[in-house]
Amino acid sequence: MPRLELVRGDITREATDAVVNAANSAMRGGGGVDGAIHRAGGPRVLADCVTRFPRGLATGDAGWTTAGDLAAHWVIHTVGPNYRRGERDRGLLASCYRRSLEVADELGVRSLAVPLISAGIYGWPLQDAADVAVETLGGTASLVREVRIVAFDGAAHDAVAAALARA
Ligand code: ADP
Repeated sequence: MPRLELVRGDITREATDAVVNAANSAMRGGGGVDGAIHRAGGPRVLADCVTRFPRGLATGDAGWTTAGDLAAHWVIHTVGPNYRRGERDRGLLASCYRRSLEVADELGVRSLAVPLISAGIYGWPLQDAADVAVETLGGTASLVREVRIVAFDGAAHDAVAAALARA
């Protein structure tokens, strides 16, 4: 199982082997962490998305692209369920983390940074989003040694800290 670490900050600054992106199913960029990763990674990230995912990606699935100008080597894109639109299946949110770890294993990734999938624009309740992240990332067999959960603000940090304290 990966060792979990909590940090506060901007995931585009992480120098882990790969960073996970909270993408949308179109895989053509968007707001929130998706926009930040495409801005910081530059046009090669989108170009690779277009080439590798011509029909996008299903909710709960994950796939990789180059990380372009980021310090990381790869971006692992995963599509979280849109809670605001009524996609409220916890299993689908857990699948995002499990699939991201599987893709990381395919790439030989040893260190991974992840944001709280679905907890922003998609509106998943913050504490539950943090609980699913910690339960799934900490409970899935993987060759990834270190997972850094990157909390963008104080509220996300507190939610992940509470989830880690219970784990
Ligand atoms: P979603 O559409 O899956 O909800 P968002 O990007 O809107 O994705 O939000 C997911 C989480 O990522 C939220 O907790 C948000 O605050 C956080 N976030 C936004 N920008 C960044 C960033 N640059 N680094 C890390 N986390 C971020």
